[in-house]
Amino acid sequence: MRDEFVYEAQPMRVVFGAGRLPAVADEARRLGLSRALVVSTPGHEKLALRVADLLGERAAGVFAGARMHVPTPIVAAAREAAARLGADGCVAVGGGSAIGLAKALALRDGLPVIAVPTTYAGSEMTPVWGLTEDGVKRTGRDPAVLPRAVVYDPDLTLTLPPALSVTSGFNALAHAAEALYAPDLSPIVALMAEAGARALIESLPRLVEAPADPPARSRALYGAWLCGAVLGATTMSLHHKLCHVLGGTFDLPHAEVHTVVLPHVLAYNAAAAPDATAALSRVLGSPDPATALWDLARALGAPTSLASLGLRESAIPEIVSQVLATPYANPRPPTAPDLTDLLTHAHQGTAPA
Ligand code: NAD
Repeated sequence: MRDEFVYEAQPMRVVFGAGRLPAVADEARRLGLSRALVVSTPGHEKLALRVADLLGERAAGVFAGARMHVPTPIVAAAREAAARLGADGCVAVGGGSAIGLAKALALRDGLPVIAVPTTYAGSEMTPVWGLTEDGVKRTGRDPAVLPRAVVYDPDLTLTLPPALSVTSGFNALAHAAEALYAPDLSPIVALMAEAGARALIESLPRLVEAPADPPARSRALYGAWLCGAVLGATTMSLHHKLCHVLGGTFDLPHAEVHTVVLPHVLAYNAAAAPDATAALSRVLGSPDPATALWDLARALGAPTSLASLGLRESAIPEIVSQVLATPYANPRPPTAPDLTDLLTHAHQGTAPA
């Protein structure tokens, strides 16, 4: 354990429980919202309409046009809808894409956000925003975009297909894994990261066997909450940097990229981050957590190669140069040859080394 640290709690209010979706109306009342715009992706329009129904006269309308990585034309359309409908707040229903759009409305127009997550991505717990303009994704931190309240209803995740449950779960695990060696780790965050990772590792196999198992869904969403909270509380390292480039510049799918890359980065950092490796070893019941995670991904049918996600091997030098272009924290300083090697393994889907 580190004997020197700074810990700053994020102001977060969480309502958790199966069947708790209707609590969204109480949360809107507590925040004094009288005209909330409900935002979702097109696939979640029905759920968004249900939330608008639950909000009753506190709903201004529904904008079901959210897209992955928050493209600025979509933000412009949502801002126009919010202004036209006189919205004084926003309720985001869905995964990181819907929540990302609500954060953009908070950033641009100061609309307070209530989040109702339906995946394990964890954006609802962070003050991090992202905007994609002309194919370039910018991110930043602003306390204004942190949702004021989050309603976690595991029933909303019963429909997540097994493949997405696994990759979204690995996305959450990545937050815990990198928090455990973050430069700004504190003891309380370490506890949350280990507990969050354990909850996910225990529930993911069950979600593949029985995707609609309520206790497993509840445990996985609990884990995702903790993993999201540690993402919001710490600085991420090489893994998130690589995924940012692979998703932002090469347009690879977010959760799948996290799943493929994580074991390779953990293997790369293992010796330089002994406390984090020990914590993950406890969670995974193996002295080699990187290989244990890679084995788990394969056993659960998740993708294990960047080639299978559509990346061409010829892109590796460009990824390496983008990743090394800006300095960032990492327990083992990355070099171009090391990163080329790591990405080659991840590209081919060979075991982490
Ligand atoms: P997403 O919101 O695009 O959802 C992925 C897919 O799952 C979509 O097709 C969606 O319709 C479907 N889906 C969502 N919930 C479902 C459910 N319950 N049942 C069935 N299908 C469902 O993606 P995501 O993985 O949740 O989030 C990824 C995005 O979030 C990326 O843009 C990423 O950069 C961002 N993100 C941001 C932060 C942050 O702190 N700012 C953190 C994590 C992720």
